[in-house]
Amino acid sequence: MAADSHSTAAIRARIGTVKVGSGGGFRAIAYTLKKGREAGGIWKLFRAMKTRNACKTCAVGMGGQKGGMVNELGHSFELCKKSLQAMVADMQPGIQPTFWKENSLADLQRLSPRQLESLGRLIHPIRIRQGENHFEVITWKQALESIVDKLSATEPDQTFWYFSGRSSNEAGFLLQLLARLYGTNNVNNCSYYCHQASGVGLQSSVGSGTATIVLEDLEKADTVFLIGGNPASNHPRLMTSLMRVRRAGGKVVVINPVRETGLVKFRIPSDPLSLLVGTKIATHYVQPHIGGDLALLWGLAKATKQLDALDADFLQQHTSGTDQWLEQLDALGWHEIETKSGVAKSEIEQIAELYAHSKRCVFSWTMGITHHAHGVENVQAIANLAFARGMVGRPGCGLMPIRGHSNVQGIGSVGVTPKLKQQIFDALRDSFNIHLPETPGQDTLACIESAAAGQMKVGVCLGGNLYGSNPDSVYAADALSRLEMNVMISTTMNTGHVHGLAQETIILPVLARDEEPEPTTQESMFNYVRMSDGGPARLPGPRSEVSVISSIGKQLLPDVEGVDWEELAKTSTIRRWIGAVVPGYDQIATIDQTKQEFQIGGRTFHDPQFATPDRRGALHCHRLPELKGTATHQLRLMTVRSEGQFNTVVYEEEDLYRNQDRRDVILMHPDDLKAMGLRHDQRVTVRSETGEMPGILARGFESIRRGNALMYYPESNVLVARHADPQSKTPAFKGVVVEVIAN
Ligand code: SF4
Repeated sequence: MAADSHSTAAIRARIGTVKVGSGGGFRAIAYTLKKGREAGGIWKLFRAMKTRNACKTCAVGMGGQKGGMVNELGHSFELCKKSLQAMVADMQPGIQPTFWKENSLADLQRLSPRQLESLGRLIHPIRIRQGENHFEVITWKQALESIVDKLSATEPDQTFWYFSGRSSNEAGFLLQLLARLYGTNNVNNCSYYCHQASGVGLQSSVGSGTATIVLEDLEKADTVFLIGGNPASNHPRLMTSLMRVRRAGGKVVVINPVRETGLVKFRIPSDPLSLLVGTKIATHYVQPHIGGDLALLWGLAKATKQLDALDADFLQQHTSGTDQWLEQLDALGWHEIETKSGVAKSEIEQIAELYAHSKRCVFSWTMGITHHAHGVENVQAIANLAFARGMVGRPGCGLMPIRGHSNVQGIGSVGVTPKLKQQIFDALRDSFNIHLPETPGQDTLACIESAAAGQMKVGVCLGGNLYGSNPDSVYAADALSRLEMNVMISTTMNTGHVHGLAQETIILPVLARDEEPEPTTQESMFNYVRMSDGGPARLPGPRSEVSVISSIGKQLLPDVEGVDWEELAKTSTIRRWIGAVVPGYDQIATIDQTKQEFQIGGRTFHDPQFATPDRRGALHCHRLPELKGTATHQLRLMTVRSEGQFNTVVYEEEDLYRNQDRRDVILMHPDDLKAMGLRHDQRVTVRSETGEMPGILARGFESIRRGNALMYYPESNVLVARHADPQSKTPAFKGVVVEVIAN
């Protein structure tokens, strides 16, 4: 295998001993030049970034028909480290057939997520069976026939179909249709492991499961709450919007157990002043305990009421459940709020005072809110707080979950959920004479648990890394290894391709978004649908996702009434179907001709008329959970991403913003380190109720609130239990109680 240019020594030399004091800046520019070299030249990379394709990384959304890296407001090209990482990964050379002969499965299993990603692009279908030592290259014909034969011999409900947010609306729609026509509703997506709690919580509060605002609203706000997230690392261009809020005199309240460098100060590379002197992002930084958000949110609402700052007219005219909510606010004691949140009453009152003076407030959050056993309640409590002052249903105000992958929201919109929306189900029947099963389908974790119980035989994964994104990695590997066949449709290698392998594993190589032969579409977290033109394939071998899916459909289900798989191999045909059946998506049917990207109807609330049955916003009451992990030998652990990774894909071993040169670390407050009798960089075993990780370096990290700790996802998933939020089925990746034991 290629020499490793990311050795610890090399990384230490790059990071040096100077602590990074801000996000972005000249380092981001230097990084761009470095990535340009990796891509074969800066101009080659620049040209690739400028094509009319939606950014392949996060759901903020850039690019499309306005030009590469341009957002829906037309703000011009900006550098974004995340988007460069994904693009350069797609510009790697292909993995040659000899590689699979020269490197055994055991060799591949020793590689880190980053090393696997760096092997290059997949360009041939490959297969491995249990007991074999090497992947073998097979033809497309062999691969597709094996898949079709296995599916034909399997009961449909013994199969599951998992989708990542990388794929297009067209591929997502077509594969879920194929799965349901085949006979199962075991159709689910990666959202169950990230933002499902946002969808369920918002649906219960405003009747629609996505952001209530458009991008422009964010920049009009005078106050932005940023709760449980680190967009400086994971959604870099949002920092430009926050800079605009700050320059207009607005406030940014960050709520996060960790004081993240990029949220304190960020240097926007495209803004000369910001680049030179930096932009202060957080005006206020609150550090609750991990798991303390619900108590903090209720405390903020209570303090707002005590300031007499509730919008009584709004509550009376536009919300339901108001009396019970007000009663709970009065009944809730400050001792309980302070103990369970870890935040003092005086600090909560200070933030409430600021909120009381806001005229336009946006509440945003990420997985620090959703990755808890009470994730839906966290989201509802944010909505409660917004309703309290009438901060939903007006321009410049609203609720904004900061979603992950570039099309994770679109995949859900076009039907990739176990239960198909009734409107889509009915429209498919009425408009296309398609009759689909009504049996209950299983969510992502339920499918893994069924596999562990031997009730699943075949998995089909469109992108992503199902193994890597699961909690309880040992259990997940065992569950997946009980499958008779697992099919993964991918662009590059990841840990899911070499761990937890089924009796037979087939990996199909596909084109990246900007290599598709026909246009595709994607939906951003602001409910904005972009069209990507595609472009020339960089390498011979990979096929488009849609052509792979339609080929399987044609061989597996050749005679379904109303379905012409040849026609459905064209993305324009699929868009006509989507336009006819998916609510708010009608404009997609003609987007090829009009080139008009659009805002999905019925989801943005600029008036306080919500999508709930009574058109009112629903206030919810909750029981505040006990703070876990309070014993002296325990820490509350959250699994986090670095600025050098995106979801399960790791591009860099180092985490510049947290000043870390490696990922096998547990970051804890220096006082906790001392109290446990540990030294900085001492080897320890981290143990939870679910698993343990020996040989980890315990590191003092002043930025985290005492009693709490960080470890990197997905490696630390071995410690995460399968306890899921009962409402959203999202596992608690951020509420893990651990002990740290010296080796
Ligand atoms: S912020 Fe997200 S969508 Fe925008 S360029 Fe960066 S990765 Fe792409």
